[in-house]
Amino acid sequence: MKKDLIKFCESLGIDNVGIAPVEIYKDFESIYKRQIERGHICGFEEKNIEKRISPYLTLEDASSVIVCLFPYYSESKEGANISKYAYTLDYHLIVKRFLEIIGEYLKDKIDNFHYKAFVDNGPLSDRYVAYKAGLGFFGINNHIITDKYGSYIFIGYIINNYNFEPDMPQNRTCIQCFNCVKACPGQCILGDFTINPLRCKSFITQKKGQLSDSDRIILKKTNLIWGCDVCQDVCPHNMNIEKTDIKEFKENLIYNIEYEELKHISNKEFMRRYGNRAFSWRGKGILIRNHEIINDSK
Ligand code: SF4
Ligand code: SF4
Repeated sequence: MKKDLIKFCESLGIDNVGIAPVEIYKDFESIYKRQIERGHICGFEEKNIEKRISPYLTLEDASSVIVCLFPYYSESKEGANISKYAYTLDYHLIVKRFLEIIGEYLKDKIDNFHYKAFVDNGPLSDRYVAYKAGLGFFGINNHIITDKYGSYIFIGYIINNYNFEPDMPQNRTCIQCFNCVKACPGQCILGDFTINPLRCKSFITQKKGQLSDSDRIILKKTNLIWGCDVCQDVCPHNMNIEKTDIKEFKENLIYNIEYEELKHISNKEFMRRYGNRAFSWRGKGILIRNHEIINDSK
């Protein structure tokens, strides 16, 4: 059945599929607890630690986790003011659609098959399950890195009740050149494969409310008003990688959101134009704020 699954995924253009075991993820628990102790939690993750380390709390009879990688790199656009992952239509929608197609395919093939599919906002750590499924290795920048597509990948996973044979994690890390540590605008890459997300520019561009002076300094260090690509752009593992072959990540690309446009459209019009983009989830006010801080136009 695993071969069948892999073949089906390949027919959809997904060539990185692995299986993570279902167990209590003790090694992840200790890393996560240390992050909590240090206060290095941004609040976007699942708050219930038990759910974060135990797939059984999401699916009672969970037996394996299917993990799929979705490469999204298509180009580095000079002058872009949003992160590469946001060039396309919202990856949550695209990846979720693929995962549901896979889940429904397996439902047809396996008696009593059931599943729950997640991208980015699920109970487990998507990077950790990708690592456990043998699909990539950790970089000092905390990204999951693959040989073929570097770290420009989205991760989707399907907790399910079929006992697919687990894959083995790769026994390696990035080459530890520390380029990312030196270049990070927030100086938040700690050198032990973790980051302080509260000082990460990508997090700050999504943060609501009043920004502190140090947030503003970090925001101004590069011109992106949404996200931050620095620790991926400087990584040697991202040189000479293959571009995505997934049609959905090659079309409908936009690279800039202009200040004047944002200032002159209503919230309703903003959602009509951009509601299917990953950068829209915090609303246009946050983007205007980021523009004004970065360009000092306030
Ligand atoms: S995304 Fe930017 S700010 Fe965040 S860790 Fe990477 S380089 Fe640092
Ligand atoms: S930039 Fe260097 S240290 Fe950072 S993740 Fe890439 S290889 Fe590792």
